Amino acid sequence: MMTEYKTMDDLGDLHGKVVMLRADLNVPMDENFHVTNTARIDRTVPTIKELMQKGAKVVVISHFGRPEGKGDMKNSLSHIVPDLEKALGKKVVFVDDCIGEKVEQAVKAMNNDEILLLENLRFYNEEKKGDENFAKELVKVADVYVSDAFSTAHRAHASMVAAVKERPSAMGRLMEEEVKALEGALSNPTRPLIAIVGGSKVSTKLDLLNNLVKKVDKLVISGGMAHTFMKASGIDTINEANSLVQMDMIDTAKEIMATAKANNCEIVLPKDVVISKEFKPHAEHKTVDLEHIPAEGWSLLDVGEKTIKEINNKLDECKTLVWNGPLGVFEMKPFDNATNAVAAHAAELTAAGKLMSVAGGGDTVSALENAGVADKFSYISTAGGAFLEWMEGKELPGVVVLKK
Ligand code: AMP
Repeated sequence: MMTEYKTMDDLGDLHGKVVMLRADLNVPMDENFHVTNTARIDRTVPTIKELMQKGAKVVVISHFGRPEGKGDMKNSLSHIVPDLEKALGKKVVFVDDCIGEKVEQAVKAMNNDEILLLENLRFYNEEKKGDENFAKELVKVADVYVSDAFSTAHRAHASMVAAVKERPSAMGRLMEEEVKALEGALSNPTRPLIAIVGGSKVSTKLDLLNNLVKKVDKLVISGGMAHTFMKASGIDTINEANSLVQMDMIDTAKEIMATAKANNCEIVLPKDVVISKEFKPHAEHKTVDLEHIPAEGWSLLDVGEKTIKEINNKLDECKTLVWNGPLGVFEMKPFDNATNAVAAHAAELTAAGKLMSVAGGGDTVSALENAGVADKFSYISTAGGAFLEWMEGKELPGVVVLKK
């Protein structure tokens, strides 16, 4: 429940206070240091604006890239200043360090209508180590600490955990939105709850599947990873030389299906598949029922119309959806067909107020962008690893520390 967590509503009067905001400004950048996607900057803006409206002096900190130490200019946060200024419509003063004298001076010299952006936290190895002394140095200039980097919440880095404990603290509006969506989807869902899990390999999604079968009412397994489950269910025609099958995972797949049964979780596997002799866009292809999968030479690249229909019917019966992983090789047309068709149906149900839809993790965001529905789901998490760990049922240290 959200009431468990400290939000910005719990911070009291912020007028004249220095608020340090741990954001995620780890944006993609081209070789000329131009930001190629400002989504992470844009999503931080509401929290910054609200803090400024409340009269706080905002000092923003973040990690950026994978620096090899201090002074690695390629990974300097200074490159994002123009985009941050544009998104905020305010002046951003950059300080080329995140701790020490320079920061203290800059905070003292701050005007009310500007924000301070400090240099990359990961220029100090202490950040990743979760070092308490580094956290103390970091918050020296701050009266209050706001953590808004949900995407880093699965890591117990200094700015995500130790720093939070040093000052009166709360989650920012972006983290609040993420946590609300994920709680609504998995911890406290309106049932029936359905999960769609696709993607390539069972082995990378074991924790996810094991958690989901205990929580959801229906679990759709699709994509390459479904082949292992199909093989485990006795569909012998799938040829592991041509299609993704993890033979060493067959027993695991059987165990997952048994756990599902014990927990009254209905598993939905493909009914028909789209097959091709080549792995390339627009390759010649056909749709076949499972018993007609040719023994040799054909790869399974997507699921067919019967499967799409079945998944969409299951969605009609449910109130909440969590989705991770594409249903087929969505990067190559037309093998994005099933992903697109099911995504469109989920978006339609969401728009009609019949479904709360949450998706995220790995390639899922690009698969749903490709389907043209990324803004039509109730919530799409761009948090990657943190989203997946939440779906796996793990506690995220950067969220736990914000409990009341
Ligand atoms: P993941 O990162 O595990 O979610 O996997 C995403 C990848 O799974 C995408 O690159 C898809 O192309 C791939 N994928 C989905 N379905 C299949 C399939 N039937 N055969 C091979 N790869 C697939």
